Amino acid sequence: MAEIIDGKRIAEEIKAELKIEIEELSRGGIIPGLATILVGDNPASHVYVKNKTSACEKLGIYSEQHTLPKEIKEEELLELIATLNKKPNIDGILVQLPLPSQIEEKKILSAILPEKDVDGFHYYNVGRFFCEKSYSQMKKEGLFLPCTPYGIMEMLLRSGLEINGKEAVVLGRSNIVGKPITLLLLSANATVTICHSKTANLKDVTSRADILVAAIGIPCFVKKDMVKRGATVIDVGINRINDKIVGDVDFAEVSKVAGAITPVPGGVGPMTITMLLANTVTGAKRRKEVYILK
Ligand code: NAD
Repeated sequence: MAEIIDGKRIAEEIKAELKIEIEELSRGGIIPGLATILVGDNPASHVYVKNKTSACEKLGIYSEQHTLPKEIKEEELLELIATLNKKPNIDGILVQLPLPSQIEEKKILSAILPEKDVDGFHYYNVGRFFCEKSYSQMKKEGLFLPCTPYGIMEMLLRSGLEINGKEAVVLGRSNIVGKPITLLLLSANATVTICHSKTANLKDVTSRADILVAAIGIPCFVKKDMVKRGATVIDVGINRINDKIVGDVDFAEVSKVAGAITPVPGGVGPMTITMLLANTVTGAKRRKEVYILK
């Protein structure tokens, strides 16, 4: 039976470290601040934003939530972002995706100041992390890494799971998970293959993986015969089936052959929120130039 990689426990460990940093900042008169923007009435988005703001409150991060109707015009949303960009007490701005169709996502994400882009989706931040060679250097420089891939890396490293020299396979090529986790694993010296809906002989590729990351959004897609014995399996998927959340991996079956596996829920999810908090604290440190670029 596979070792369970407990995302909740690792997230708590990171939050305890952040709490110390937040207390230190507040002694110097700085309270980290996060602004969330939620457009429309997507129930899942409401839950995500609520979880993010309540995680902030628990840790002593100031948070403000802006809820806007789904008919809002693009210009109005841009105006709000411009206001938040100027607010000195706000270190991070998060626009919950997806956005309604009349709003161009790329335009909105690139309107957020790169210094406040705690989701790590701004072109500037994507470019910076693309150009950096090693994961440890990215962390040292305080880059805003996209939260889910960042959380996956911390999970692997803090669980003592080897990345260096391993063969990694990523299922899914989205901008928020598949592509960035590919780069991060590469930056930690894995040999990485990225697969997608048009990949031929998928099972042959996934069966080679020492580390398999599934981020496709299809419930229980990854079966036992797609996984190498002893592999580390990271399940990013969040799929709702009859009020139950399941991942992209058939946990019951795959946990019989994997060496280590993340559960859903309680795996990648709590890490994503925690890395958002970590990025917000990084932003707050920059506010006082506490962050020294080495
Ligand atoms: P997406 O929904 O934008 O895209 C899905 C990707 O899967 C595409 O790149 C597609 O090529 C690939 N794909 C589809 N069918 C496939 C197949 N049969 N074989 C191989 N690849 C296939 O991806 P996303 O936004 O990264 O989301 C993926 C999943 O991760 C969703 O369930 C989402 O809810 C979840 N998610 C979870 C977190 C978290 O914090 N746990 C964060 C982000 C996304």
